Amino acid sequence: MSKTIDDLLVRDISRRSLLKNSVKTGVAITAVSSATLPFVSVQAEPTVTGTPGATETVRHSACLVNCGSRCALKVIVKDDTIVRIEPEDCKNDDVFGEHQIRPCLRGRASRWRVYSPDRLKYPLQRVGKRGEGKFKRISWQEASSIIAKELTRITEKYGNESIYYNYQSGAYYHTQGTNAWKRLLNLNGGFLKYYNTYSTAQISVATPYTQGDYVASHFDQVKNSDLVVFFGMNLSETRMSGGGQVEELRRALEQSQAKVIIIDPRYTDSVIGEHAEWLAIKPTTDGALVAGIVHTLINENLLDEAMINRYCVGFDSQTLPESAPANAGYKDYILGLGDDKTEKTPEWAAKVTGLPAVRIRQLAREIANAKACYIAQGWGPQRHANGEQTVRAIQLLPSLTGHFGRPGTNTGNWPYATSYGVPKLPEGTNPIKTAIPCYLWTTAIDAPETITPTKLGLRDADKLKTGIKFMLNQAGNALLNQHGDVNRTKEILADESKCEFIMVIDNHMTPSARFADILLPETSYLEANDLVDNSYASGSHNYMIAIQPVVTPMWEVRSTYDMCADIAENLGKRQEFTQGLTQMQWIEKNYAEVKSKRTYLPEWSVAKDMGVIDQQIATEKQSIALADFRRDPDANPIKTPSGKVEIYSARLADIASKWELDSDEKITAIPEFCPSWESHLDTKALEKYPLQMIGFHTKGRTHSTYHPIAQLREAVPDEIWINPIDAAARGIESRDRIQVRNDRGIIEIHAKVTNRIAPGVVAVPQGAWTQSNNEGVDIGGCINTLTTLRTSPLAKGNPQHTNLVEIKRI
Ligand code: SF4
Repeated sequence: MSKTIDDLLVRDISRRSLLKNSVKTGVAITAVSSATLPFVSVQAEPTVTGTPGATETVRHSACLVNCGSRCALKVIVKDDTIVRIEPEDCKNDDVFGEHQIRPCLRGRASRWRVYSPDRLKYPLQRVGKRGEGKFKRISWQEASSIIAKELTRITEKYGNESIYYNYQSGAYYHTQGTNAWKRLLNLNGGFLKYYNTYSTAQISVATPYTQGDYVASHFDQVKNSDLVVFFGMNLSETRMSGGGQVEELRRALEQSQAKVIIIDPRYTDSVIGEHAEWLAIKPTTDGALVAGIVHTLINENLLDEAMINRYCVGFDSQTLPESAPANAGYKDYILGLGDDKTEKTPEWAAKVTGLPAVRIRQLAREIANAKACYIAQGWGPQRHANGEQTVRAIQLLPSLTGHFGRPGTNTGNWPYATSYGVPKLPEGTNPIKTAIPCYLWTTAIDAPETITPTKLGLRDADKLKTGIKFMLNQAGNALLNQHGDVNRTKEILADESKCEFIMVIDNHMTPSARFADILLPETSYLEANDLVDNSYASGSHNYMIAIQPVVTPMWEVRSTYDMCADIAENLGKRQEFTQGLTQMQWIEKNYAEVKSKRTYLPEWSVAKDMGVIDQQIATEKQSIALADFRRDPDANPIKTPSGKVEIYSARLADIASKWELDSDEKITAIPEFCPSWESHLDTKALEKYPLQMIGFHTKGRTHSTYHPIAQLREAVPDEIWINPIDAAARGIESRDRIQVRNDRGIIEIHAKVTNRIAPGVVAVPQGAWTQSNNEGVDIGGCINTLTTLRTSPLAKGNPQHTNLVEIKRI
């Protein structure tokens, strides 16, 4: 007997009726859900009122998704049912640091994640072909035993390098989730490691060559700025909460009233919210804009070259390292004296970027004449095929113009965030040192022999001993939806002769979950215990939250700590895994460690019911990046080989001479602008696919999390942004259903015709769940059906905004 999950949808979601409608052991379930239907399929709002007359109680949790914020949630519960979610109370909303950590619409809608028809309820085992989405219910004992046996079999047959923990970011726990699974795998002898993230691969790999450590000022410094220049930073649609940097920036701008300029192909909500000027740049061209700016700075004597040479190497020939050829400095490159013999005038930059030359000149003068210019970049400009050069070019601007190490300035990087510092469950030690770039796991399944150090960035080994045979994917949709080239990825996953076992742990039947061999249902964060701190984009504001199960965990969902302990038992390692402690005891242990350094904190018996236990603001000294280096660069060198900002990197020159690159790829010692494949400068490719396609985050999702919530998709519909010039040429109007295609696939989505996107560019909201129809068209509108598995040259990172497409009305 086979049922679809839709058959099992429950309209009255009171706990009793949910349990009444649950399936029996052995019933096959086909993973087809209303939440993956195209566009908005708004369901009737389920009744969530609890028992009439029951008393309301207040419980505390937090939104643990990967938006960079971490909002505390005050959850109102009636009769073990969540009835609404509110912001936690605050001490004084006028005082930064005592203000309300106000969740956005996503966090406030998170009860619908708990009561979603897509919830996974029981352990499931695949019964159809992999990816077909057919499962049968099994017991926890069976699931733990199967996993332990497969882990043992594959480890014995192929070695620990064949075991892989996939990149994920769906839930940031401290005593379960990632740390628990890695701890389990380490007890089994380790696993193949990865480096990079899908968010920051190019920036994290490129930065050390220029600046040593990744350093940045807090946003708080904007209070001392008179000019703010952002390259593609969009806090207002990504982490728009009281617990995120948007709040810190807003308050700082209120004080300084600084002019804000945002360089982005989209007129984002940040342009509106920050009262900014919008410069509509073509994707992949930020490095060319920087070159055009620097040309003006040189031409109009707006640079202090003695100062530049004090802090940097490689701007001009005086400071080039001995190994560098003559005329290899950045100044020679700008003035057309380098290898390409092209002067990077604002007119040259205008042709590349789409920005007027006069505006480029003016921008250079504004930056040079500012008293304190705060320059920062988001993570969009780097997520391109030439992202590494873009990162380094933007990092140059503060160094060349002296806007670093002083109040009101930054380093060109994403602003700094201070962690409160809550400990995590120890992962243990992984004896396997071999690491692949995280975007290359599909290659590590499909063609592991191609992953070498000089071709695809393999670290700590000359080659992979074996391909990935055991895949563990927890709280993540990068097994399919958030990875590139969805159609090709499906083929690789479906081949059971390559990766032999896939286990997925999640809250919902995501597109990735459909490819599981064993599928385990995890507690949502509203059903979990933990002690967490602020996330990576909370700025100088940092804090600690105790989260508690606001309702009894539903169906048979379990904490991943308990899942791991049971699998460890099957491996004969329960005691080693738990060290005799329950998850709750680990939480108390972690709290005791924090309290030992902050003795003013209350006892755990009080703290566990407080929600936000403590919050603070980082000090002014921590806040200004490179302040010591600015004061005395000899006494306080940065962590590059020269101790200075390396505009010319001898290490990159060395890599460029040794690595195997394709003819259209380049690694350069200075941050040259390198035209990207699949860009508007790729004239041959443009003949077939004339539009550049980028992705963007919407306010209705965090990556692909929250996608099943129909109310959010109604509030923030998925629409491709098209400039009226491009729409008129194709007879497209707003709300038309259109197809977007390239050689990798076709998606369907509704159109939004708007001047808020640069001509020649279309923008697709990322994170929508893929759903193929019978013709292989993705009617779910997932952008990754169109993105590539090809990687950027240095970081081997995902270039997910580098795509060419054509669109048509259907
Ligand atoms: S999605 Fe981010 S900003 Fe929104 S509530 Fe959650 S943590 Fe806060």
